[in-house]
Amino acid sequence: MAAPADVIVVGAGPAGATAARSLALGGARVQLLERFRFPRNKPCGGGITTRALRRFPYLGAALDRITTHYISKLYLEGPSGRGVVLTSHEPAVVMIRRLEFDDLLARLAVEAGAELIEDACVSQVHADDEGVRVTTRDGREFCARYLVAADGVNGIVTRRLGLHPGWDAAGVALDMMEETPNERLRALEPGTLWVSYGQGGTNGYGYIFPKRDHINVGIGCLLSHFREQIHLAPYQMQQRFVSELRRRGIVEGESSREDFTPYHIPVGGPIRNTARGRVLVAGDAGGFVNAYTAEGIYYALVSGDLAARAVIDDRGIDDPRRGTTAAGRYVRAWRREIGAELRDSVLIQKYLFRDASRIDGVVSSADTYRQAADTIIAYATGTTSYAEARRRLLARFPCVVVRMARGALAG
Ligand SMILES: Cc1cc2nc3c(=O)[nH]c(=O)nc-3n(C[C@H](O)[C@H](O)[C@H](O)COP(=O)(O)OP(=O)(O)OC[C@H]3O[C@@H](n4cnc5c(N)ncnc54)[C@H](O)[C@@H]3O)c2cc1C
Repeated sequence: MAAPADVIVVGAGPAGATAARSLALGGARVQLLERFRFPRNKPCGGGITTRALRRFPYLGAALDRITTHYISKLYLEGPSGRGVVLTSHEPAVVMIRRLEFDDLLARLAVEAGAELIEDACVSQVHADDEGVRVTTRDGREFCARYLVAADGVNGIVTRRLGLHPGWDAAGVALDMMEETPNERLRALEPGTLWVSYGQGGTNGYGYIFPKRDHINVGIGCLLSHFREQIHLAPYQMQQRFVSELRRRGIVEGESSREDFTPYHIPVGGPIRNTARGRVLVAGDAGGFVNAYTAEGIYYALVSGDLAARAVIDDRGIDDPRRGTTAAGRYVRAWRREIGAELRDSVLIQKYLFRDASRIDGVVSSADTYRQAADTIIAYATGTTSYAEARRRLLARFPCVVVRMARGALAG
């Protein structure tokens, strides 16, 4: 058995690597267990709202070590085909490739003092009042006083510990996406993030996320909708979507099967048990994703950091009596920082995706009421808090709240 650590982090994606970095900087002995070896890919559009750079100031300089592409123009299209272009004064989104970004985050964790253990696929987990023990598929055992579960949407830790039974098909999106080199497929407007709602059904969406040398093109919908309503294979949907984009003169080139990976995104809001005893759940494993934009990287970074801080507390990790309060501190911390926006995102998703004309209404409003669009951009760039953005939007569109509340009550 390996020497015990203070904290084991399972999964070295954005949530786990950030947790490991913050823990190590806080003085904890951390083992970061990752089933793959870096650099490894993770299917993802790779768009990060630039508020992440305000929340994590070290990231700005660190991103210089990888390929980035900053974007300040968003094209939003409703199901009727009506579109609007939103422009921000400063970049609102930074595009990265997960192959490089996740490798960078893992290196930052190691540079901070975390021990990264690759090829360590966790298969068994045990937790009690005294501590935690995990076993990898190849039989290695690791023990610690705390565990941060950051093993993603298909993670096993929450299921093994009875914290979450797994996602139902209405709480998860199937996102079918390719990340293809520009020599094969490219956007004709590489400075614009392109998002279209209503692709393949009311709750469907399609997007083009241009990178410096690649393009990410994807199409997605709720898994329940895909199973019940779509009679095409994922890659057939993707090919149709790319052909349509080419016909409209939005991209040129060919879709690439070898760069295509369908994958799940949890879009039902945070799970009921995000922490218990000595186990804290961060990132996709805890359902920390915006339910209608499917943005998850920001929330993975934030929840990973908050989990780490809850464990360390301000007095350090060496006081055993403080152990069991970490779970409560974590839940309070994420609710305070990102709880309202994640809760609202589920209500908004349910409200908008029930009726195509509502999404068209949002697109028209973004066009007509530029101040509302500016508020959303200010939120994405981090110059306005969610609470303030929400207050301004509610003051502008009070009737929407009433309709959303009615929709929520009706289920
Ligand atoms: C197609 C697609 C497009 C997306 N586009 C965007 C986007 O543009 N912007 C955005 O913000 N979000 C996007 N998301 C969501 C985003 O990818 C996730 O929210 C984010 O990756 C969550 O980070 P995480 O660290 O929680 O999990 P992950 O990134 O999934 O990392 C989990 C890690 O745990 C490891 N792991 C899993 N099981 C084990 C195990 N048993 N033992 C050890 N290690 C294990 C995995 O190998 C992985 O490294 C997209 C998602 C998809 C599927």
